[in-house]
Amino acid sequence: MIDFHCHLDLYENPTLVSQRVVAEGLYLLAVTTSPRAWAGTRALFASLPRIRIGLGLHPQLIAERYAEVDILCELVSQARYIGEIGLDGSAEHLANIELQTRVFRQILSVCAKDGGRILSIHSRGAASAVLDELERCPGAGVPVLHWFSGSRKELDRAIALGCWFSVGPAMLRGEKGLTLAGAMPRNRVLTETDGPFAQERNKPLMPWDVVLAEDRLGKLWGRPPPKVREQLLQNLQTLTVPQS
Ligand code: MN
Repeated sequence: MIDFHCHLDLYENPTLVSQRVVAEGLYLLAVTTSPRAWAGTRALFASLPRIRIGLGLHPQLIAERYAEVDILCELVSQARYIGEIGLDGSAEHLANIELQTRVFRQILSVCAKDGGRILSIHSRGAASAVLDELERCPGAGVPVLHWFSGSRKELDRAIALGCWFSVGPAMLRGEKGLTLAGAMPRNRVLTETDGPFAQERNKPLMPWDVVLAEDRLGKLWGRPPPKVREQLLQNLQTLTVPQS
């Protein structure tokens, strides 16, 4: 199983969660919301098998923490995965979308200068704006759009730009998410939970709950769960930044 977007450091007991992640053989990308959290999260989990740590600065924190972009940019050379980064255009965060855009652009450009990275990207209410930035900076790496909620047209544009997608149980609960997921190229889809923020039945999703996403993808693809898992693991193996 794969949880390609999980806030492992934000669970009530991250160590306990990480132990079960290892025991279940999960592949997990622990994204961080601030570069200040990256070193600590790495110290705790980076030595564990199949767990990788993303260096991030969440767009919803930009208003207070935009200055941390400089810390992030200095650490890019040490990180293989970048995230959670991106733009948030929902009502609560729209006021600072210009500041968010400057920060996102700066991160993408540093990644591009250093050969590109695998990027876990938030694009809520800002799919077109995120795609504009990715288009401006094609060397930034491989964008994995997490919980994509744009329009069908925006999805087609993302696919044409080479984006990947991580989809979770929460996204695959509704009709819109299912329709979008059904239109994504199967060889560019990964599963995620976005736990502990995303929930199922009023409880935070746990990394092993990606099984719910596998089930829903299976119905969508008309494939049995073991075949779905096989496809997802194959996808993960091909997810690399192309050498320029
Ligand atoms: Mn997230």
